[in-house]
Amino acid sequence: MSKLKTSTVNTSTPDQPASWSVSDSEKLYGVKDWGTGYFNICDNGELEVTVQGPDAQNANTSKTAVSVLDIVKGMRERGMEMPAILRIENVLDQRIKELNEAFHNAIESCDYQGVYRGVFPIKVNQQCHVIEEIADFGRRFHHGLEAGSKAELIIALSQLRDHNSLIICNGYKDAEFVDLGLYARELGIACFFVLETPAELPIILERSRALNIKPLIGVRIKSSVIVDGHWNEDSGDRSIFGLSTTALLDVVEQLKQADMIDSLQLLHCHLGSQIPNIRNIRSGVQEACRFYGELIGEGAPMGYLDLGGGLAVDYEGAKTNSTHSMNYRLDEYCVNIVETIAESLDAQQVPHPCIITESGRSTVAYSSMLLFNVLDVRNHDPQPLPPALKEGDHETLHNLFAVNSVVNERNFQECYNDALYYRDEIRELFRRGQVGLRDRALADNITLAVLDKIAKILKTIERIPPELENLSELLCDIYYGNFSLFQSLPDIWAIEQVFPVMPIQRLNEQPTREAIIADITCDCDGKIDRFISPQGIRKTLPLHKLNDSEEYYIGVFLVGAYQETLGDLHNLFGDTNVVSVKINGDGDFDFIREFQGDSIADVLSYVEYEPKQMLEQFRRSAEQAVRDKRISASQRQRMLQAFKDSLQGYTYFEREQH
Ligand SMILES: *Cc1c(COP(=O)(O)O)cnc(C)c1O
Repeated sequence: MSKLKTSTVNTSTPDQPASWSVSDSEKLYGVKDWGTGYFNICDNGELEVTVQGPDAQNANTSKTAVSVLDIVKGMRERGMEMPAILRIENVLDQRIKELNEAFHNAIESCDYQGVYRGVFPIKVNQQCHVIEEIADFGRRFHHGLEAGSKAELIIALSQLRDHNSLIICNGYKDAEFVDLGLYARELGIACFFVLETPAELPIILERSRALNIKPLIGVRIKSSVIVDGHWNEDSGDRSIFGLSTTALLDVVEQLKQADMIDSLQLLHCHLGSQIPNIRNIRSGVQEACRFYGELIGEGAPMGYLDLGGGLAVDYEGAKTNSTHSMNYRLDEYCVNIVETIAESLDAQQVPHPCIITESGRSTVAYSSMLLFNVLDVRNHDPQPLPPALKEGDHETLHNLFAVNSVVNERNFQECYNDALYYRDEIRELFRRGQVGLRDRALADNITLAVLDKIAKILKTIERIPPELENLSELLCDIYYGNFSLFQSLPDIWAIEQVFPVMPIQRLNEQPTREAIIADITCDCDGKIDRFISPQGIRKTLPLHKLNDSEEYYIGVFLVGAYQETLGDLHNLFGDTNVVSVKINGDGDFDFIREFQGDSIADVLSYVEYEPKQMLEQFRRSAEQAVRDKRISASQRQRMLQAFKDSLQGYTYFEREQH
C-alpha cells in the first residue's frame, strides 16, 4: 500500500468555495494543537498519523506518515467492520521514549544525583497487547508497572522480565496479594507494597515472617495540596486514599517495634489525574519532599520518591489550566519535579532519591482512536414552502406565513417571537381537534423556515440577543454514528470529558453542516454535544454533507486512557473490533494484531443467557409453526439460519458489503 496519492480534484459546489484548503481544516479542528505532532492532514484531505522512523537518532529527519483512511480500508478488506479501536504501536513507543528522555534530560540539566524509573499504572489500559508493548518497548528504560489489585499484580509478574524495572503495588492488599509480592522479591524483582492504611501493615509483617522474605515497603501520604481540575478529591484531607499524619507515625512506630524500619524505602504521593496546573504539581512535590526528609529523620533508609500520576493530556489543545487542558509541556513537568526535589532535599541535606512517576493517561491516550462510520443524518432544514397558502387555510397559518415573508435584519427578534406564538397556537388548535395533521405539519415547516432565516441573519451580526443564543444549536444536524458512547467513550457520559472529534477524510473540502453526534444506543445520553475548538468548547461540530458514493468516517482521538474497560454493555453493544498497527519506515504499515469485537452470543452470555438454549427455544417455536402449517420446512430452515447468523454477528450496525 502506498501512501502517495494523487490529490483529489477540488470539485467546488455552491456550498464549497474553492478557496478551502487543508490548512483551514487544520485550524478548524485544532489538529496541530491537540495532535502534538502525531496527527496532521495530508494534501489529499485525509488525516494522517505521523511517527518517528526507525532511525531514532535522527528523529527530525526520519518521519513517516500514514493516512488513517488507508488503514480503515485495510481493515475493511480484512473483514474488520466499524466501529473499531485503532492503536498505533509506534505512538505508544514514542510516548514512553519521550517521557523517559524528558526525565533524563531534566536530571542532567539539574545535576540531579538520582535516576528516574517510570511505572505504567495497569488500570489505565489493561489490554494485554498494550501492557506487552509497554513491557517490551519500555525495557530499554527499565520502565515498570503499577498494580492496584491482585489481578493487576499477576499481569505485572507475568509481563515484566527486566529486574531493573519496578513493580509498585497500590490498593488494598490481602494475604494472598502480599504473598505474591513477596515471592516476586525472592525472584529478585523490586516489588513495593505501598500502604494505603495502617491496617495493611500487620498482614505484611505476618506474611513476611511466615515466608521469611523481607518486604519493600512504601507509604502513601495524603497531600494537603488541592489540585485544579476534575480529580481534586484525590488529594487533600478528604482523599479516601493515603495515610493521615497520625497514621503515618503509627506505621513508623510499628515498623520500628518489628525491627523492620529498614524495609521502609518509598514515599508515595498521588495528587490526582489530569492535573492542568503546573503550580499544583510543584506544591505537591514540595510537600512530598518534606515528608520524605522527615521519614529519613525517623530512621527509615528511603531511596525512592513516587509522585504518582497526574501528568495531563491537552485534550483541548488550549495550553491553559482548564480541566481538559494543561498549562505546561512534558519537559517543563520533568524539570519542575527534578528541580523542586533537588532544591527541597538539598536544603534538608538529604541525598537525592530515585524518582518514580506513574503516568498512565499521558502514556497511552495518544495511541488509540475510536473510528466509526455515519449511518444517517437528520437535519432541520425546512421543506420548500408553497408560493401561497390556500384561502381556506386557517387564519393562524396565514399569519405565520406572513411572518416568514417579512423577516429581515431589523425585525428578526420580533419575527422569532411571532413565529413561535403562531406555531404554538396551531399546536393548541390541533390538540382541540380544530386543525388537522397536514395543517400542523405546514405550521411546523413554516416555523422552521423562519428560524432558518433568522439563524442565517445571526451569522452576520455581532451581538446576538440572549434568547437567540442557542438557536443555531437547536437547528443543527444530528449525525448518527455507528458506536456506543457507553461502551467506547464512557467518560463523555460520566465526567463530561471532551475528546478531539473530527472526520478523517474530505478535509480539503469545507464542512458546511453543523452537527451533534448521536450513537445507536437509543439512550438520550448517548450523544456527543461538546467539542473542542480553537475558540473553546463548542456545542456543535462542523461536518461534511454525506454523499452516496463513500462512507463518511469520524474519529475520536486521544482515547487510549481509561475508556476501554470502564465501558459497559448498555443496550448490549459489546466490545468493538480492535486493530493494532505498526507503521514501517517506508510508509507501509502492518496489522500486528486484530481482535474481533464481541458477537451477540458473547454479550448475551455475559448477562447469563445460554445462546445454545436460545437457539433451541427458537427452533421449537419454528417447528411448531411448521406443524401448524403457518410456514414451510424450508422457511423454518431460513429463519433458523438467520437466527444463528445474528448470534454470531457483530453487535453494531453491519452494512451489506458491496
Ligand atoms: C490512576 C492512578 C495513576 C494514573 O494517573 P494518570 O493521571 O492517568 O497518570 C497513577 N497512580 C495511582 C495511584 C492512580 O490511582
